[in-house]
Amino acid sequence: MNTLSIRQSVVDLCIKLSHIGYLAGTGGNIALRIDAERFAVTPSATDYLSMSAADVCVVRLSDLQRLEGERTPSVETSLHARVLRQRPEVLCSIHTHQPVASACALLGRSLEVDNEATRRVIGPRVPLIGYMPSGTGLLAWMVGRAIRPDLNAYLMRNHGVLCCGSSLEAAVASVNALENLAHRHLAQRITQQISTHPQRAAALKRVLHTLETP
Ligand SMILES: [Zn+2]
Repeated sequence: MNTLSIRQSVVDLCIKLSHIGYLAGTGGNIALRIDAERFAVTPSATDYLSMSAADVCVVRLSDLQRLEGERTPSVETSLHARVLRQRPEVLCSIHTHQPVASACALLGRSLEVDNEATRRVIGPRVPLIGYMPSGTGLLAWMVGRAIRPDLNAYLMRNHGVLCCGSSLEAAVASVNALENLAHRHLAQRITQQISTHPQRAAALKRVLHTLETP
């Protein structure tokens, strides 16, 4: 099977997410399942806006051996492999440092999902995965422990987020749903702070204004 069209889908998705501001430069990475044995993954340290399909790596799911692609696979390849192994129905796994949800990942708490439409996309809550350094087996292990069949979005403490879906579109919907939820959550927290700390209201209102005008 020619993998070029799937690798091109990874390129197109990277460009789309870069334009929205969810991937910046070389930050974040994407995995797309090809079949039961293989997946495509973004290369390490490559600018997503100048990447081509030939740069996207094809990796074997069982042992992460690179099968195609000139470049080194993403440092988070083992993290994505955990998702794809533990969730056979997942086609696409996305790790980003998207701005608002990543800010929530600094707060050190999981998020409850506040409405039915969002629950249908990402599930009833967004768990917080404990901190481990980027690109390590320990981080992949922590992610593996957190993965649940009914949850499609995760906060990675002090780092970013992990989202997945049964199609490329569903994974992107998870990324968007998480960012919007994180936005509502932060706005709510700041509004609460304004009422409990009136002496800091002016500064907090400026933060709220920044959040509301991306
Ligand atoms: Zn990262």
